[in-house]
Amino acid sequence: MSNTDFTLAVEDLSVSFDGFKAIDALNLYLDRDELRVIIGPNGAGKTTLLDLICGKTRATGGSIKFKNEELTGMAEYQRVRLGIGRKFQTPSIYENLSVFQNLEVSYPEGRSVFGALAFQCTSAVRERVQAVAADIGLADRLDTEAGLLSHGQKQWLEIGMLLMQEPELLMLDEPIAGMSARERELTAELLQRICKNRSVIVIEHDMEFVARIAHKVTVMHQGKILAEGPMDKVQADPKVIDVYLGH
Ligand code: ADP
Ligand code: MG
Repeated sequence: MSNTDFTLAVEDLSVSFDGFKAIDALNLYLDRDELRVIIGPNGAGKTTLLDLICGKTRATGGSIKFKNEELTGMAEYQRVRLGIGRKFQTPSIYENLSVFQNLEVSYPEGRSVFGALAFQCTSAVRERVQAVAADIGLADRLDTEAGLLSHGQKQWLEIGMLLMQEPELLMLDEPIAGMSARERELTAELLQRICKNRSVIVIEHDMEFVARIAHKVTVMHQGKILAEGPMDKVQADPKVIDVYLGH
């Protein structure tokens, strides 16, 4: 397989903060329809890697190709337009709007203020809201004010807001933090549904959860890739046990 066959090809990527290499000559390749989980100790550079891919942080060197387009010189909003969606750890939903409205305003055409004024809730938008609501398990909560949702439901709504833009790469940083056991189960199911027709990167610590969702696991340590492969192989790797799983 040549590098052009991947949705995402990260090569020799580096970023330094005051001389400290938070990401150090890292390579990462992601297929379409793949759900990749990134694990590793605190400070390994996991969040920084997502920051570099979405454009929140500028790379010091190396390349990030998404569908064969070089991202490193692009602004964050251009990467969003190309199909990159990133969920941060704290949800940014509109608490006073309903679930339906939160999804509706996330529809790409409704995004600018001007667009929002002229925006009509066409049947296409309505259909998309309903499809996304089903994917995130909130189909029977469309009229609920978002502020009244549980912590887990708010997280799902935010994922839904990203899905409204039909991202081809979706990145989630510790999506189950603070969730109940039941919400974690439902999130695992949700992730299985939404990784169809796109690539998904999830950063997660909970190994039981990782085992349930991961197609492949990438282990990061000190800004580099320490190990990569199927969960059982990675879990049995002495290097991984030494720096991460053993603690
Ligand atoms: P992880 O998500 O794996 O816990 P991070 O990516 O948050 O790790 O951090 C990796 C390292 O980079 C840490 O040592 C962190 O302090 C440092 N770091 C991250 N972002 C910045 C920044 N904007 N400025 C300076 N140092 C940073
Ligand atoms: Mg982090």
